Amino acid sequence: MALITKSIKGTQDVVPADSAKWQYVEKTCLETARLSGFGEIRTPVFEHTELFERGVGDTTDVVQKEMYTFSDKGGRSITLRPEMTASAVRAAIERGLIYDALPVKACYVAACYRSEKPQAGRLREFHQFGVEMFGAATPAADAEVIALAASVFRELGVSGISLELNSIGCPECRAKYNEALKEYYRQHLDTICDTCKDRLERNPMRLLDCKADCCKETAQNAPRIINYICDDCKAHFDGVKSCLEAMGIEYTINPSIVRGLDYYTRTVFEFVSNDLGAQSTVCGGGRYDGLFRIMGVQDTPAVGFAMGLERLLMVMEAQGCEFPQAEAPTIYLAPMGQAASVKCMELCAKLREEGFSAETDLCGRSVKAQMKYADKRGFKYTCVIGDTELESNSVKIKDMNSGETFETNLEEGILDRLYDIGISSTLENLNATMEGFEGLAGLFGAEE
Ligand code: ATP
Ligand code: MG
Repeated sequence: MALITKSIKGTQDVVPADSAKWQYVEKTCLETARLSGFGEIRTPVFEHTELFERGVGDTTDVVQKEMYTFSDKGGRSITLRPEMTASAVRAAIERGLIYDALPVKACYVAACYRSEKPQAGRLREFHQFGVEMFGAATPAADAEVIALAASVFRELGVSGISLELNSIGCPECRAKYNEALKEYYRQHLDTICDTCKDRLERNPMRLLDCKADCCKETAQNAPRIINYICDDCKAHFDGVKSCLEAMGIEYTINPSIVRGLDYYTRTVFEFVSNDLGAQSTVCGGGRYDGLFRIMGVQDTPAVGFAMGLERLLMVMEAQGCEFPQAEAPTIYLAPMGQAASVKCMELCAKLREEGFSAETDLCGRSVKAQMKYADKRGFKYTCVIGDTELESNSVKIKDMNSGETFETNLEEGILDRLYDIGISSTLENLNATMEGFEGLAGLFGAEE
């Protein structure tokens, strides 16, 4: 097939028939985050390469193997963002957010780019929902971020996702641990992959995260960070666990979770699903108190997570989660002849102003062909308008489900009729919102 009609390997299109699912998931994510005070942040898709080299860390797979990097016309090195954390931190510094009210709470839905081998749940362009909190160092901040991810799964009706938790300590306790790890792995060089042999001296913790079977096996008996963390880090970890328990969030401690990025400290976590096969991590995150310093500003504690939306949708599909049905379009006006066509354009505009979805013929088709189209698109109502209808100022609206017809006058009649039938419109949605507020009052025990 010619290249111009072929998408790039590892990318996906979302066609109009499928986009409702994405909109629903994205809206649920952002809305759930809003309830905890997170506002949406948007940053450019590309940044200076240095941002990710420094921010993500140059011993990571992401920086070493997975970045889409190119030179722009001015010879500058540019990279398509492989993740959002570094960009959010850059923006928080550049826009002065961290010098204002703390904590900063930012969330995002963003396309990210990694040059990986495409497979199920692993793409080259993928999407993340994530949150970042800057300026809060307490265990409660970690727990709030973890609880938010759990709420998103609950809101979407996703089940069977387990939370795996670990602490990788601070740079001080990690120094001792790294020595112990190197010692262990030096004695097991024959059972680890070549990449791991290579990075053992530079970043031994990365070996625990290696996906190669031989390395996974070797990692099982490796020393555990939990036995090396200092009293402060231990107290922090205990604090996170108590908060989670108080909030009724179940977790298991998984000592081999170290996350793939360099900037993490203390709490790290993953949400894992059994419905995903090899790419089982839906969401990963943790505390990264070291990143602002790496970026050249004062120490600022930070914690966040990123959730892969393609993987989330895969779990939802596998579990048969319910997606809200896309609402059927309301009315199709089928003109016969030029005068009627102009009238239909006018009526459609009026109907849309009132919040009804309305369409008319734009292809110059016969009424029969138009009806076929209306049927295929699933319109709730149709209405044929020709010279006779224009002259008599009277039309028939057909209910496509029951086959019933209603007669009404052409001008105000269609609108009135649709309101009579009780088709949902902007006005009705507003009423539903008002009912929501009454419900809220009830929650706090207000009198009826
Ligand atoms: P993995 O171990 O699966 O490679 P990661 O540690 O590289 O994941 P993060 O950088 O923490 O992942 O990104 C957070 C989440 O984004 C992942 O848990 C996953 O759901 C999603 N994700 C990461 N890379 C991809 C990808 N190439 N395609 C689809 N989703 C991805
Ligand atoms: Mg990865």
